[in-house]
Amino acid sequence: MKLLEERIIKDAVVAAKDVLKVDGFLNQMMDTELYSLCADEWYSKFADCGVTKILTVESSGIGLACITAMKFSVPALFAKKSNGLGGKRDLLSAEVVSFTHGLEYDITVPKKFISPEDKVLIIDDFLANGSALKALIELVKKAKAEIAGIGVAIEKAYKGGGDEIRSYGYRLEALAKIKSIDKEKNIIFD
Ligand code: 5GP
Repeated sequence: MKLLEERIIKDAVVAAKDVLKVDGFLNQMMDTELYSLCADEWYSKFADCGVTKILTVESSGIGLACITAMKFSVPALFAKKSNGLGGKRDLLSAEVVSFTHGLEYDITVPKKFISPEDKVLIIDDFLANGSALKALIELVKKAKAEIAGIGVAIEKAYKGGGDEIRSYGYRLEALAKIKSIDKEKNIIFD
C-alpha cells in the first residue's frame, strides 16, 4: 500500500534492536484516516471470505481491528496479555515471545467469544518473527473456529515470520512489506 510505505519513510524511526518506531501515526497517536484506508485494503482482500469476527492482541492492534471490524460489520475482539479475572478454564490461551522485550507471556480470550462457527480475520500492526500471530492462530484453532485470513500493516519480511505462516497455508496480506533496513537505516520495501 503506497500510502503506508510513504508514511513509514516520512515518519518512522529505526530504533535500536531492530525496532521501527511508528508511534506518531500507528502505535500511539493514531492516524484514523490511514487506519481507515488500511481497513479498506483488508476489506477488498477478504470481503468474500465470510468473516464473522476480527481478532487482534492488545494493545497496538486494537485500533486497526476496530476500524476493520466496522468495514466488515462484525465485532472486534482482542486477546489480553494477562489472564483476566475469570477462571483459567474459561479462557483460551497461547504463549507469545515478545519481539520488542524478549519476554514470554500468555495471551488469552474468553472461550465464550469465539465459537466453532466463526470465521476469524486476524489483524495486527507488525509482523516480525511471527510469534504474536502464531499465538492468535492457536487461539482460533483451540476454539475450533476457522481462520478466514490474516492482515498485518507492516511485515518485516527479512525476519521470516511471514514466510513461515504462509507456508502453513494461511492467506496473509501485509500492506507494507519491508525487505531490509540498511546500515544507514534506509528502509527498503519489497
Ligand atoms: P512477532 O511476534 O511477529 O515477532 O512481532 C510482532 C509483535 O511485536 C507486534 O504485535 C508488535 O507489537 C511487535 N513488533 C515487532 N516488531 C516491531 C517493530 O519494529 N516496531 C514496533 N513498534 N513493534 C514491533
